[in-house]
Amino acid sequence: MKVVVIIPAAGLGTRMASAPGAKGQKPAAKQFTELAGTPILIHTLRKFASHPVIAEMYVALRANEIAGFRTLIEREGKNLEIKKIQTVEGGEHRQQSVANALKAISAAAADDVVLVHDAVRPFVTEQIIHDVIQAAQKYGAAIAGVPAVDTVKQVERIAEGALITATVPRERVVMAQTPQGFRYDVLKKAFDEATADGFLGTDEASLVERSGHEVAVVMGSPRNIKITTPADLELAEFYLKSAS
Ligand code: C5P
Repeated sequence: MKVVVIIPAAGLGTRMASAPGAKGQKPAAKQFTELAGTPILIHTLRKFASHPVIAEMYVALRANEIAGFRTLIEREGKNLEIKKIQTVEGGEHRQQSVANALKAISAAAADDVVLVHDAVRPFVTEQIIHDVIQAAQKYGAAIAGVPAVDTVKQVERIAEGALITATVPRERVVMAQTPQGFRYDVLKKAFDEATADGFLGTDEASLVERSGHEVAVVMGSPRNIKITTPADLELAEFYLKSAS
């Protein structure tokens, strides 16, 4: 059994529009926005590279960012095991980026574990990675998640905003994070079915759920944030300082 990691990092990061680019010029895609002088994607890769059980990592990138990324990881030297890192071209949506990486995985056995992790979640911990791998082996599919702290409302969109149609019982809600881990055969089947049906999901678990396979949830962390907006970036800077 080996563990392979897929990092979708081909997003445009339009919600990060007001954050400056790495050289203070045009806005960087959020995965390349710098945190303490290092791109977020590199912070994230370090977390997985230092994990002993991980055999290979596939990073999905926009075509015009692949060469720059290679230069970046070479500069990282011994902080990243470069030989473990492959690049693939991303797609229009996150799901296509992951699908391209899944196709590129070499010699996968049915019981190998594939972890998918957002490029922009650099605060994942060794414990979370370990727990997701264990649960993926046990159940075939598992994600990191945290309980909802806010009351969750279902709404109908209107021109001026939204109108509430229902209140979702909070104890039945989990906020999905990544890593999301799957046995290779389970994930491959779910992706093949989604492609055949033209289904587009916002995470991998949603594809596996619709293919009829149960998905376990292990405890993530409120710090395992997806850096999406400039406000998230401020929080990330704070977390990084408080960890050092
Ligand atoms: O935009 P979103 O929040 O869904 O992004 C989650 C992750 O998916 C990010 O790491 C982003 O770079 C990646 N992504 C991708 N290909 C896309 C869109 C998003 O790899 N076409």
